[in-house]
Amino acid sequence: MPIENPAAENAPGTADNVQRTDVQRDFVRQIVREDLASGKHVAIRTRFPPEPNGYLHIGHAKAICLNFGIAREFGGWCNLRLDDTNPGKENPEFVAGIKEDVRWLGFDWHELRHASDYFEVFYRAALKLVEDGKAYVDDLTPEQMREYRGTLTEPGRPSPYRKRSIEENLDLFKRMRAGEFPDASKTLRAKIDMASGNINLRDPAIYRIRKVAHQNTGDAWPIYPMYDFAHALSDAMEGITHSLCTLEFEDHRPLYDWCVDNVDLAGHPQLWQSVVDAGLEAKPAKPRQIEFSRLNLSYCITSKRKLAQLVNEGLVDGWDDPRMNTLRGLRRRGFTPAGLRLLIERLGISKQNSVIDYALLENCVREDLDATAPRRMAVLDPLKLTITNLPGNHEETLRFANHPKDESFGAREVPFGSTVWIEREDFAEVPPKGFKRLVPDGEVRLRGVGIVKCEEVVKDAAGDIIELRCTLDPESRAGLPGADRKVKGTIHWVSARHAVVAEVRLYDRLFDAAAPDDESDGKSWIEHINPEAKRIGRGWLEPAAAAAEPEQRFQFERLGYFVADRVEHRPDAPVFNRTVTLRDTWSKR
Ligand code: ATP
Ligand code: MG
Repeated sequence: MPIENPAAENAPGTADNVQRTDVQRDFVRQIVREDLASGKHVAIRTRFPPEPNGYLHIGHAKAICLNFGIAREFGGWCNLRLDDTNPGKENPEFVAGIKEDVRWLGFDWHELRHASDYFEVFYRAALKLVEDGKAYVDDLTPEQMREYRGTLTEPGRPSPYRKRSIEENLDLFKRMRAGEFPDASKTLRAKIDMASGNINLRDPAIYRIRKVAHQNTGDAWPIYPMYDFAHALSDAMEGITHSLCTLEFEDHRPLYDWCVDNVDLAGHPQLWQSVVDAGLEAKPAKPRQIEFSRLNLSYCITSKRKLAQLVNEGLVDGWDDPRMNTLRGLRRRGFTPAGLRLLIERLGISKQNSVIDYALLENCVREDLDATAPRRMAVLDPLKLTITNLPGNHEETLRFANHPKDESFGAREVPFGSTVWIEREDFAEVPPKGFKRLVPDGEVRLRGVGIVKCEEVVKDAAGDIIELRCTLDPESRAGLPGADRKVKGTIHWVSARHAVVAEVRLYDRLFDAAAPDDESDGKSWIEHINPEAKRIGRGWLEPAAAAAEPEQRFQFERLGYFVADRVEHRPDAPVFNRTVTLRDTWSKR
C-alpha cells in the first residue's frame, strides 16, 4: 500500500470549480504568525478534543487538519485529547477508533490525553472557587434552574441557595464528591452574574452528580465537571496556546476565560500536583479560544447522535458502512486521506457558515485517485464477444501500462483470448444518435488489442442478444503500422477464460436530499435514506485486479474508482466497492 505523504499533497489546488483559500493567510494562521512574531508565544500548541461517544465524521476532518496542520506548519505540537466527561455515553471502542482515524488521515499527536486525567485537578479547582466565594452548591431542580435563568430579553433571578456561606458550600461540595447525594439533586454553580446579557454567564453549572461508571476512571467519581469548565481547564493544563473550536462556542468564550482566569492554574501548582505525580508533563498557561465555522456538507449527516442512530437501528451495516460519512465509512468506500485533506485545504478556514456541495468532496477524491490509482479492466454487465478469425484456443499475454500519465506505475500482463467479455451497453443493435461504440457491421477498437468488426449478432430463443461474433483486423493490432487506423470508439474488455468473478458493491449517496435534516418538507431525515445507495452486483475482472491487497484502489477503466474491500476482499473471493464514478452524475439529476 502506498505511504500517504501529507506534505506532498499540500500542493496548490487546481480544480476550477472551487475557490482555493490560501492556507498561508487564513485568519487563524495569521493570529498564530503574529503571536510568534511578537514573542507572545515561542511554540504553538494545539489540541483536537473529540468526545469518544462515536466515531469521527467528515466534519471532524476539518478540525483535525486545522489543529494538527497548524502545529506541523509552525513547528509546534498538537495533542489528541479525549473529552471524556460524559460517563455512560463514552466507551473505549470509540477511543481506539478515534486514534486509528486520526492516524489514517495522516496525523499523529504529541501526547494522548484524556480530560479524565484531570479529574482531580478539576475537583481541586472547584474547591478553590468555593473557597474564594466564586462557586456555590445549588439545590434547585433542573427545571427550576431553567426557570430562574431568564431569557435573552429578561435577566435571570438568583437562586435562593446563592447566599450559602463558604463553609456550608465547602461541606456540601465535599459531600457531593463523597457520594452522599442522589443523582441530579445538587449542582455546583459558578457565581458570576445572573443579570448578564450572556446567558452562559448566569451562574453556569460546573459540576453535577452522576453515579455512572466512567470508561477511564470506573466508579472513582460520583460527580462530573461540566463541559465548559473541564474544557477550559484541560486546555490550560496542557499549555495550549490556541484553542480552536467551532462558532457555536463563541458565546461561551467569556465563560472559558472566566474559568481560566479565576482558577489560575499557572499560579497554583498545588491544584495540579496529581498530574505531575502521574508522570504527565504539566506547564499550565493561558490559552486563547478562537472560533471558526463548521464544515457542513450536502447529503451528509454530521451529528454523532444521528450517525449512531443509523447504526443502532440497523439502517446501515455499521459505523464503517461505505455509505456512512464517518471517516471509517469513507475509508472503506475508498476515499483517500489526501483527497479529504485537499477538500479541507481548498475550503480554507473562516467564520462564514455555509453548506459545501458534496460534489466538491468527490472531485477532490477523484483528483487524488486519478493521480494515484493504477488502471485495471473490469466488466460489470458482460456480453460475450467471440473473435472468429482467431483459433478458439488462442491465448496471448499483452502488456498494459498501469497509468496513462505516470510511467513510474510500471506495466502489467493482461491475458487475451478469442472470447472476451465487453459491457452490454457498449453494443447497440439500434444505436441512438451519436453512439460511438459497437453496432451491427460496425467497428470499434478493443482497448490494447486492435479493431474488431461485428459480423453477426446471436440471440437466444427469447430474442435476447447472447453473443457478438466479430473479426479482428490483423493489420490493426497494437504495435503494427495499421494500429493508428481511426475508428470512432474504444471499449474495454476482459478475457472470458481468465476473468475472475468478483462481488462488486455499487455505492451512492446515503441520502436523496441535499439537506436530509431539514425537516421543513415534512419528512424526517430517516425518510431521506436513498434505497439505491447500495447495490450488490458482480464484476468480471482481469486477474491483476482480483489479486489486489485489501484496501488497494484502482480505476476500472471507463467505470470509476474502486477499492478492494478492506474487511471482506480476498484474492480468491474478490470484493470491490465503488468509491466514485469517473464523472459527477448528480448535478444533472
Ligand atoms: P456531536 O455533537 O455530533 O457529538 P461534536 O461537535 O460535539 O459533535 P466532538 O467530538 O465534541 O463532536 O468534536 C471534536 C472537535 O471537532 C470539536 O473541536 C468540534 O468543534 C470539532 N468538530 C465537530 N464537528 C465539526 C464540523 N462539522 N466541522 C468542524 N469541526 C467540527
Ligand atoms: Mg461534543
